[in-house]
Amino acid sequence: MFKCPRCEEEQLEICQSFELPPGARWDEESLQMIACNSCESAGLAVYQESRRGASDEESVHHEGAFLPMKELMTVRATLLLCPEPSNGRCGCAAHKELRGLTDAVLLKKLFPMKR
Ligand SMILES: [Zn+2]
Ligand SMILES: [Zn+2]
Repeated sequence: MFKCPRCEEEQLEICQSFELPPGARWDEESLQMIACNSCESAGLAVYQESRRGASDEESVHHEGAFLPMKELMTVRATLLLCPEPSNGRCGCAAHKELRGLTDAVLLKKLFPMKR
């Protein structure tokens, strides 16, 4: 469980995780649906990990943003179209769309995912 920035409770949970194709910068990248069990805020988080850095402190990024339910429903519908959500090398249409969506999420004002 992570700390929810809205209600300050440690009730923020990752409901679903979706692996993205490894990019130029990250070895591992995933898009996660997050929801708070306490205040019922919901949104998306992006987890990024690089194994190339010398120090491991700067090599993990995990940030999230709360989104309106309507937007999340669209994301969830797209997730369901993918036959292999845990395979970052899956080349389905949903994967392509979510790659773009992840980049859009990263441009939003994000909060750090903290335990
Ligand atoms: Zn909350
Ligand atoms: Zn896919």
